[in-house]
Amino acid sequence: MRERQDVILGGGLSGMTAAWTLQQAGEDHWQIYEKEERVGGLARSVAVDGYLFDHGPHILFTIDAEMEALIRDLLGDNFHAQERQAFIYHHAHDLYTRFPFQAHLYGLPVPLVRECLVELVRAVQRFERGEFQPRNYEEWMRGVFGDGISDRLMIPYARKIWTIEPSEMEFSWIGRRVPTPDYERIIAGALTDDVAQVGATSSFWYPRTGAIEPLPRALGARLKNVHLQRRALRIELPAKQVVFSDGAVVPFDHLLFSLPLPSIPRLFTGVPPEVERACAALKYQGIYCINIGVDRPDVSDKHWVYFYEEPFPFHRLSFPATFSPDTVPPGKSSIATEVAFSQWRPLDRDTAVERTLDALKLAKILHPDDRIDLIHTEEIQPAYVIYDLDHAKNVGLIRTWLREHGIWNIGRFGEWQYFNMDHSMRSGKTAAEEILRSRPGSAPLGYNPP
Ligand SMILES: Cc1cc2nc3c(=O)[nH]c(=O)nc-3n(C[C@H](O)[C@H](O)[C@H](O)COP(=O)(O)OP(=O)(O)OC[C@H]3O[C@@H](n4cnc5c(N)ncnc54)[C@H](O)[C@@H]3O)c2cc1C
Repeated sequence: MRERQDVILGGGLSGMTAAWTLQQAGEDHWQIYEKEERVGGLARSVAVDGYLFDHGPHILFTIDAEMEALIRDLLGDNFHAQERQAFIYHHAHDLYTRFPFQAHLYGLPVPLVRECLVELVRAVQRFERGEFQPRNYEEWMRGVFGDGISDRLMIPYARKIWTIEPSEMEFSWIGRRVPTPDYERIIAGALTDDVAQVGATSSFWYPRTGAIEPLPRALGARLKNVHLQRRALRIELPAKQVVFSDGAVVPFDHLLFSLPLPSIPRLFTGVPPEVERACAALKYQGIYCINIGVDRPDVSDKHWVYFYEEPFPFHRLSFPATFSPDTVPPGKSSIATEVAFSQWRPLDRDTAVERTLDALKLAKILHPDDRIDLIHTEEIQPAYVIYDLDHAKNVGLIRTWLREHGIWNIGRFGEWQYFNMDHSMRSGKTAAEEILRSRPGSAPLGYNPP
């Protein structure tokens, strides 16, 4: 029998998918440790006075066929597909347009639409002259959408969510996260409202009942070796053992680490100075999820709305009852707002709540006579990894060092990437498969350090 086991730290979706992969391969020499009293991490939901809130509404969508199959299997009858009803609010024009802005200019004042289209043509001309060589996210937006769309919406919105200038960010993370309709589609969307939806989330899934938590709960229920309320306090190298807050010491063969990379200097012994420096240089922002219960049905028929203008502290708000009526008591509604903050744009919780309530009235979402049942605020930190210009270099250096010690960093904060739930699950599965392949007698490990 092997003396050391594989240890998975963190019972979020990435850690549990790694565990499920090992279990499915017939392995039993692994243990998963979670500091909270229930699994799920960021994909848990919070129940308050009959309302259910996610940590920022968590919708499901993926192009990963294996993860889709797993998600469908886990949710069973609770799986529910929906067509997106997402909008942009324009306070200056007192109207909503469909998301994404760049594909639905129709309805905005004609001079603004004309400016956006003229600048789009200029961007296309620059592209055709071979002048599209963006060095940062701002240049990428200007090159793809033109200065009109960029200045009017994309850049103000980017500042709001990322809390730093988009010129200080790289753009490798964009993938399907920023919809990039071609110019013919942008022009069509400026002429008529009668156009098909675009983007990765144009249809999405959300459980019929229980908000998002039934997904991680179902995965956790399948796993054998789950240890709850076990907080890792220290990871000792080169001894390769984890010390828990109850004093238990668990030696590991491989470690799957889904905790945030910036916590490494605090958690690990034997961290080289260059790894400490790389961890300290990682950037992130936080989110206040300010959730509001309203004593009125049907506050909105929209799923979610984006805000880019100054008076609004939140960049997005959602109406959970439109995802699933099960998230509110009968006859009630709720509003889930997301407000970004960081060391570059500090904001205390009370001010965020106060400004949010004022802004909801300004946007006429809350009425003056509305009765607020509850205000529940969750602070998530880190919430979004910031892709500053040194992101790839720092993450690569940390990962290389971890692998030298048999440690696989997994998940949104372990890999330190803009991972949705499906990506985090895939990350756990990939790491577990690499570990399985590294066993004596298996095919050689395919990992090549960057
Ligand atoms: C505001 C917001 C909105 C989002 N919306 C969506 C969405 O709509 N759709 C989507 O697909 N994805 C969304 N995501 C992303 C999604 O939440 C993540 O990709 C996914 O849940 C991350 O899973 P994980 O296992 O990597 O990390 P986590 O969920 O962070 O899991 C890590 C686990 O480690 C545990 N832990 C921490 N420290 C210790 C310790 N010392 N010892 C033991 N355990 C510890 C934590 O308690 C946690 O359970 C959103 C994220 C945010 C922040």
